[in-house]
Amino acid sequence: MDLQIFILIWICVIGLCLGSFYNVVILRSLSGESIVFPSSKCPKCGHKLYFWHNIPILSYLLLRGKCYFCKEQISIQYPIIEFTTMVLFAFAYLKFGLNITALFVIVWLSCLLIMTVTDLKERVADCNLAILMTILGVINCCLYMGWAGIIFSLTGLLSAALIIELIARSGYLITKSRAMGEADTYVAGALGAIFGLKGVLIVLFFSLIASVIFILPSFWYKNYKQGNKLTCISLILFLLALVVYKTVQNYCTIAIVGIVAIILIYSLLKSIKKEENRNYLPYIPALAAGALYGLIIM
Ligand SMILES: [Zn+2]
Repeated sequence: MDLQIFILIWICVIGLCLGSFYNVVILRSLSGESIVFPSSKCPKCGHKLYFWHNIPILSYLLLRGKCYFCKEQISIQYPIIEFTTMVLFAFAYLKFGLNITALFVIVWLSCLLIMTVTDLKERVADCNLAILMTILGVINCCLYMGWAGIIFSLTGLLSAALIIELIARSGYLITKSRAMGEADTYVAGALGAIFGLKGVLIVLFFSLIASVIFILPSFWYKNYKQGNKLTCISLILFLLALVVYKTVQNYCTIAIVGIVAIILIYSLLKSIKKEENRNYLPYIPALAAGALYGLIIM
């Protein structure tokens, strides 16, 4: 067999196994249990799992998505994360080859994946993972640029963290709470350390686009379920107004976009004010998407 394909298969297998481990990390970091002990068990009935219940993806298919003992549904999150980890590992190898940078990329993407899932599920993220990403980012830049890499890395880190922190704190002006979580600042800083100033600006811009594409639909759904009709309707009207503006550009359509935008912002602020803390949008998924885009075009 071709050596490259042989290595790729092995990297995919390692990705699957580590993806399985990340599931444990995510589950136990949210529940506060130790990552090493106890051995894996069904989250529903608590029965200890046999070793063949832990084979990535395959076990899920064999058990048809149900616990072997209590027949409760197993979350689709497990095979999805295993598969995603495998794809990310394969990407790192195919794009960067077999070297230290590929290893760093694997660690960065793994950290981002874990934080993305915990952010989506519970609006929390382990900042230590972002700090690990930052340290490896600085080291990677130094490997390529020597001591100049430190300046390159630190300017990126400080600018990105500052931009996101300013956006987060602007929330105090309106709702008396942060618009984003603290972990977002850590992650943005880490991306700055990895990509440098120019690179991280592209990454942040792409994360903005990603947030509009991926987060707004789920945000809309959440508001729909909570019965925030004004937010739902104004969001749809805003998108329609944008389409109209794209086809016909005159003062009238600009005015329409402006008016709908004001209604949308008003309804968003009202819905944010109503809720307690941790009401902000999960932004780490968007930053992770931005980082992936940055790595692809690197
Ligand atoms: Zn069970």
